[in-house]
Amino acid sequence: MYESTRGNLADQRAAQAITLGMVPSGGLFVPSIIPTLNWQNLQGLTYHDVAKRVMTPYLPDFSEAAIAKIVNVYADGTFDGPDPAPLVLVGNFGVLELWHGPTAAFKDMALQVLPDLLKVSLKLFNRTEEVLILVATSGDTGKAALEGFKNREGMHIVVFYPEGGVSPVQERQMTTTEGENTHVVAVKGNFDECQTAVKRIFASDTLKEQLQAKHLIFSSANSINWGRLLPQIVYYFWAYLQAVEQGKVTPGGKINVVIPTGNFGNLQAAYYAKRMGLPIDRIISASNKNNVLVDFFETGVYQSQRDFFQTISPSMDILISSNFERFLYEMSGRDARKIQTWYDSKNQGTFTVDPVTLKQCQDTVYAGWADEEETLETIARAYQAYQYVFDPHTAVAMKVYEDYLSATNDQTFTVIASTASPFKFASNVLRGLEGEKLKSMRDEWEALDYLSQLTGWKIPLGLQGLEDKVTTTATACEPGEITGLLQKLFIG
Ligand SMILES: *Cc1c(COP(=O)(O)O)cnc(C)c1O
Repeated sequence: MYESTRGNLADQRAAQAITLGMVPSGGLFVPSIIPTLNWQNLQGLTYHDVAKRVMTPYLPDFSEAAIAKIVNVYADGTFDGPDPAPLVLVGNFGVLELWHGPTAAFKDMALQVLPDLLKVSLKLFNRTEEVLILVATSGDTGKAALEGFKNREGMHIVVFYPEGGVSPVQERQMTTTEGENTHVVAVKGNFDECQTAVKRIFASDTLKEQLQAKHLIFSSANSINWGRLLPQIVYYFWAYLQAVEQGKVTPGGKINVVIPTGNFGNLQAAYYAKRMGLPIDRIISASNKNNVLVDFFETGVYQSQRDFFQTISPSMDILISSNFERFLYEMSGRDARKIQTWYDSKNQGTFTVDPVTLKQCQDTVYAGWADEEETLETIARAYQAYQYVFDPHTAVAMKVYEDYLSATNDQTFTVIASTASPFKFASNVLRGLEGEKLKSMRDEWEALDYLSQLTGWKIPLGLQGLEDKVTTTATACEPGEITGLLQKLFIG
């Protein structure tokens, strides 16, 4: 069963949590009981069988056949190789490459699964409405969600991205999506403003009623939706199994994981894996210059009212980290009253947790950050040392891992979650690799080719030929105009 982080809803089935996306009166769905799973029983299984075993205890209302079908996407060629999430040994640490899906970012790991999770959830509820998926994106979620939901019967998707706040490749990926049921909107504002506007729409009863009259219900493909987090728990088990198989960790020995963090979904998934019994020791959170979480772990004060920086790791340019609410729920000993107090809108995104909760947070997660210069420098250094090309998000994680190592000298085998292919951010990766030497590029497409020439790495299939594809223009709008736009599109 699932309950709300704010204590305003309990005993909900998985299908309900996934259909609704978030608790209608505020709060996020969390599993009431975190199941345990012995990793040893997963040894020798394929990724999709591991996925089945990890996800099943969280989906008691789903049939075995339905779950098998949902995770089949990991075995049917959607991901570019036999292993959807290979653990690559780089130096003496592992890089878990989570970007072998159709859009070359780790969001595919969950967003290729979510549409089917949602479809089954609706059926379990005998809901006959069509679903309207609203997505706020800092770049990668948008395209991954569009790919997952395009041409899905009974589903419509509208993606909102901050105008000028995503990379040229990300923008082109979104505006070249085919599909009758997809809409892309460029919002004049930053990601937090996009996300806040979308959350407000979820809470708007007027719009909900108007949509209901058209036989439509809202859901979310952002990581506030439990259906997004669940498939992400799987790859931490997979990483561990591979580390054992590759002889990097003795069976039962612990590993550390380092995670480039934005909305805290990926990290929260690692936390659930650990709670399920996976031998994870330190969970290391890496932020860019938008280091609101690093400050929190130091002081216990979450202060989202601060300057927002647009960086070369745009998917981490987030100050209001949605899933942190789920984390604090666990860290506070599931004290829904505290969560409600901290997240009360009158605090305007600023709150201070009690010392006991803070201690729990600090014991669970180590947090660090890297600025842009350090990130570029890390891309260059890692390439020289290991001939491995990090994208700017994963490079932030690499730098934070190095800092962690110098601070602790912890020799535990460590897995860095690699969240994007370097080709998604080719010009900035090249800036890192070549520095001053870099010749000027005609456009981003030349940068992709040049990065491939320079490193011998292949451009992922999903990023090939983007420059020649037909684009649709994104609709532009102010955050305040989103409701009106949705009314025009879906209510008429
Ligand atoms: C979404 C994203 C992140 C942040 O992940 P969260 O789960 O939101 O913390 C990091 N890197 C890349 C490339 C992403 O697309």
